[in-house]
Amino acid sequence: MYTAGPGKKEREIFLPEERTITALPRLVAGLAGEDRELFGRIFQVNTSAGRIHPPPEMEEWIKKRFGPADQVKNQEIVRVTNLITLEGALFNRLRAARPVEGKIAGPVREEIVRTQGDPFCHPEEQTPADTFGRVRGKYCLTASNLAKYDGYHAVIIFAEHNPLAVSREEMVDAFVTARRWADLVREEDPAAKYYFFLWNCLWTSGASIIHGHAQATVAREMHYPKVEALRRAMVAYRGKYRSGYFEDLYRVHEALGLAWRLGAVKGFAYLTPVKEKEVFLLAEEPGPELYEAAARVVEGYRAISSWSFNLALLLPPLDKTAEDWGGFPAIIRIVDRGDPALRKSDVGAMELFAASVIASDPFWVAEKIKRYQL
Ligand SMILES: [Zn+2]
Repeated sequence: MYTAGPGKKEREIFLPEERTITALPRLVAGLAGEDRELFGRIFQVNTSAGRIHPPPEMEEWIKKRFGPADQVKNQEIVRVTNLITLEGALFNRLRAARPVEGKIAGPVREEIVRTQGDPFCHPEEQTPADTFGRVRGKYCLTASNLAKYDGYHAVIIFAEHNPLAVSREEMVDAFVTARRWADLVREEDPAAKYYFFLWNCLWTSGASIIHGHAQATVAREMHYPKVEALRRAMVAYRGKYRSGYFEDLYRVHEALGLAWRLGAVKGFAYLTPVKEKEVFLLAEEPGPELYEAAARVVEGYRAISSWSFNLALLLPPLDKTAEDWGGFPAIIRIVDRGDPALRKSDVGAMELFAASVIASDPFWVAEKIKRYQL
């Protein structure tokens, strides 16, 4: 499992550390009885060794690129499975190159500047409105998405072109504006109840337009399958353990030092991330406090050079439905999608069909992101 990249940053990963993903089995063993039991209920951890036998000609190169040869010859792989949702991650410390904290690469910055003056810079003239018009925020307005994911699909266009320059206040405004849009959709179509908000930032995240924009949809009949699957997992968990899944999920992350709080919002670096550096935020209700916490995570992301990301808001339906949504919080999930300066995809067959292969250490992510939540 070699990764290309500058030698220096890979070498750093071998610094002795107590709190790393490879130390997870030991950290779990050290938890107090009830926390350890809860952890075992939700997560399964396996470790395995990956061994290689490199020819002598490679030794020098390996040392330069990855550090001490022994650690490359015997690689520790930690596999974490969420037994409740069946999400899974494979962590390999060798792949866990620490991101270099610094400025965004010149070509990425240039590409953002080059697209200035795009249709989203002139949304009133160059984007369609919804049949009920546009919703205007303080720093954004809505457009009707030209090629829709779903029957109701809006784009929330920031006045700011550069998505990396969108401020905390502007982010909160986009959440609030999108929700006002969803309420207008419901006035037009009361059966549209399943609201979903997302922000894909820069091309590696799937964004086709560079200009800063979030999106929102409202579905009918049933929530999107991944949100519905999470609800079903929560209901099954409650049925089996007489306990709240999300409360327990937070508690085990907190016990391991992976969690934080901002007011009533609970956050943690997730142990089975869907991709790099996933952060979970939980709140009883959606609203400015949660949105502010999400904006702070984005600021933390920028500080650790996570320029391209996917952010999603998962909510129970906006109106009563037949399903049991009791105990389902307002959830924000944010995941890093890799360096937009590199020509590579971070998703392969493993992610699509098996489990996520993860390079970033959740313990490192938690330490970094926490600083921006205080
Ligand atoms: Zn623009």
